[in-house]
Amino acid sequence: MSSVQESTKLEVESIWRSIRQGLKLFGLVFGMNKPYMVSSIFLHIVQGLMPVLTLIIMQNLLNSIVSSSPQGISLIMLQFGLFIAIHVLKSVVTMSQSYVEGTLEAVLSKFLNIMIGEKSGSLGLADYENSEINDQLKRASQEASYRPYQLYTQMAGIISSLVTMLSSATLLFLWKWWVVVILFIISLVSVYSIFKLNKEQFEIYMNRTPLYRESWYMTYLLTNDRAVKEVKMFNLGPYLLKRYGALLQRFFVEDRRILGKRVRITFLYSLLELTVLLWVVWLAIRETFEQKLLIGSLYGYIQAIMLTQSQMQALIQGIVQFSQNNLYMEQLFLFLQLPTSDPVRRQQEQALPIRPECSTGFGIEQISIEGVSFTYPGQTEPSIRDIHLTMDKGQTIAIVGKNGSGKSTLMKVLMQLYSDYSGVLKLNGRPVQDYDLEQIQEKIGVVFQDFMHYEMSARHNIGFGSLEHMGQDEELMHAAEYAAIDRIITQLPQGLDTQLGKWFEDGYQLSGGQWQRVAIARAFLRKADVYILDEPSSFLDPVAERDLLVLFLDLMKDSIGIFITHRISSARLAQKIVVMDNGLIVEQGTHRELILLDGLYAEMYRIQASSFSEEDSLIEAGGRVSG
Ligand code: ADP
Repeated sequence: MSSVQESTKLEVESIWRSIRQGLKLFGLVFGMNKPYMVSSIFLHIVQGLMPVLTLIIMQNLLNSIVSSSPQGISLIMLQFGLFIAIHVLKSVVTMSQSYVEGTLEAVLSKFLNIMIGEKSGSLGLADYENSEINDQLKRASQEASYRPYQLYTQMAGIISSLVTMLSSATLLFLWKWWVVVILFIISLVSVYSIFKLNKEQFEIYMNRTPLYRESWYMTYLLTNDRAVKEVKMFNLGPYLLKRYGALLQRFFVEDRRILGKRVRITFLYSLLELTVLLWVVWLAIRETFEQKLLIGSLYGYIQAIMLTQSQMQALIQGIVQFSQNNLYMEQLFLFLQLPTSDPVRRQQEQALPIRPECSTGFGIEQISIEGVSFTYPGQTEPSIRDIHLTMDKGQTIAIVGKNGSGKSTLMKVLMQLYSDYSGVLKLNGRPVQDYDLEQIQEKIGVVFQDFMHYEMSARHNIGFGSLEHMGQDEELMHAAEYAAIDRIITQLPQGLDTQLGKWFEDGYQLSGGQWQRVAIARAFLRKADVYILDEPSSFLDPVAERDLLVLFLDLMKDSIGIFITHRISSARLAQKIVVMDNGLIVEQGTHRELILLDGLYAEMYRIQASSFSEEDSLIEAGGRVSG
């Protein structure tokens, strides 16, 4: 097959795809609101008939005036009455249309935004960490509010234009059929060229998405309150702005090039069309001069020629815009059909069998991890390897290890945030797959290292740990007490209902350590069987961390308590210490056992202890000198 044939085939396929997607969208809108959708299509058809009806009435009115028929003024009045009626009808149609369309727009935007929200919620952590899916999500959510409605109105507009074009072309066809054929051929060729251009534009847009993300990130850094301190102190503003400007300039140059091409193509075809049209207008004028046509008919034909041409243009433009938006719709539908990597959602979607005793009412008494390894999607090396670990109710476990040794990854796998790990994870001696995974997550209270600051009230910030307790002040304060943040909350201007953070009005900003305690209260509000604290030391001073851990250990009497820490002074409080290195568990035991083992833990202990003793001797030396 020649390349021309092949590309023609591709174009035809793309038109078919557009039509299929358009019908899919009509189906979607129809499912959302049947009466409004049917009314909207009906109104568009009536609107499409209106110009030719007006034209015919006007043509007859003029012909009646000039031919002074025997019926005289009564016929003219009748036709004038019709003229008034059609104009009234036009206003009624326009008004009804604006109401119906406005409603449809709101309905479509509401439904789609919710659909996208639901889809985003169903995606797994691994999906969020996948930049391609992230791009899709960004595109889908950015454009959901206006693109689908744009597409819908374009489809409906195409119907109107088609009705107008066909009705005016019929008038013209009855007079000079070949005019219609020539106009049709010119339009067809122009549709083809513009389709090609659209594809090029779409490809540019698609390739641009990562750059869009980058430009978005630049504005985020320039405008976000979390970034502003560093941006100011490192004087990053001009650099970021320059990078942002360079990206925008690149988009601008590409857009201008495409726009130039578009204008050239459109101009060429308009010129061709206009030549044909003016020639036909001249023919009509000559026939009227030769008295083969009445003046009303001359008016009618000129109008019909203009209408056919303008509606063909509108039709082409409609199809072009439709195909452009339609490519975005394709992406949206693709996104909505994306399979999730979330283990909980997968279990629910695939309706995997759950043992009755594992669906509700169970408690986590023991966790055993047997030979678990996990490789992040897109990575070649596993981040945790062949992990064997057992944890029992009432036990506290500290996980220590250098940065990047796999501690957080192990916890995320345990929390059922990733699905594609190998090995077996057991609860109470049974594989987790036998359980309702959502129930397992509900039995885990966690404080992530990068926990959230919710720019909402203290009540929300703590209550999100267990929505059913959101309204119960006593429970909330109890959790706050465990996290030693109760006094601060009581002193806030509106207590639990004080807005936290600075994004919204009357917000009260907490310190990093206080935010962390709020996150801890959130985890404690949940009546969980397993509690996980990832690096509580990140915002807490050693004394505060120690106090918190003493409280934590006390609370963990009926649960499994796991904390990740760098500080050996904290780790030694746990009953069991697990040492990780390079994705492996290299040692485990009590503080005493590990010191005796004289391995990595003992080395970390010595380094941390020696830094203290060095500090102590320096202080002592300083004291002696100054004394
Ligand atoms: P730790 O908690 O001990 O500091 P992590 O579990 O965060 O270590 O990381 C273990 C390894 O996995 C590191 O090499 C890190 O680069 C890699 N890693 C962590 N998160 C991701 C991710 N989302 N995608 C790819 N690699 C990751």
